[in-house]
Amino acid sequence: MDGLSIQNTDGLDAPLSGVQLLHAPVLVLNLNYVPLNICTVRRAVILVGKSKAELLENHRGQLRTVSSLVEVPSVIRLDYMVKKPSLPRKLSKKEVFLRDRFTCQYCGKKAQDLTLDHVVPRRQHGSHTWENVVTACNRCNLRKAGRTPAEANMLLKKEPRAPDPNPYLILQNRTLLDEWLPYVPWSARG
Ligand SMILES: [Zn+2]
Repeated sequence: MDGLSIQNTDGLDAPLSGVQLLHAPVLVLNLNYVPLNICTVRRAVILVGKSKAELLENHRGQLRTVSSLVEVPSVIRLDYMVKKPSLPRKLSKKEVFLRDRFTCQYCGKKAQDLTLDHVVPRRQHGSHTWENVVTACNRCNLRKAGRTPAEANMLLKKEPRAPDPNPYLILQNRTLLDEWLPYVPWSARG
């Protein structure tokens, strides 16, 4: 790839130099269009050249190689499925609210004043695990007050479980380019 040089940079506000462009980030989608990782333009051009990926978006113009012009990708999609072990989601207040769709698991209301409720209270040795925490509005939390749902005569909407692993973790703390956004669900855009 050392023979690559910039042909033009149509559509770029601040044109990147050839070397910068080769190292610019490209969003790599799995065969099923789920974001898989981020690679460099250099790597993406090789994958497309070897027909291992298809180019979905080009917002960067073209590169001239020794013998031809190649498109500069900003999003590519692999021609095969990569199975990736996904990391389990870390238990946090925010993740519990997300799992429960910001809805109180006792009264079913979407509320602003949500709290984290331990189904079996901590002082009754309830664990701090996905299976024992739910989203509760302030009112229900006060009503339940250190009791189990049975003791408080309250019903859970559904059994709490660990959520599916998040395939979009790779995009956390990354700057997302505008041309990537059609491939990234809003909920992953922290
Ligand atoms: Zn409630």
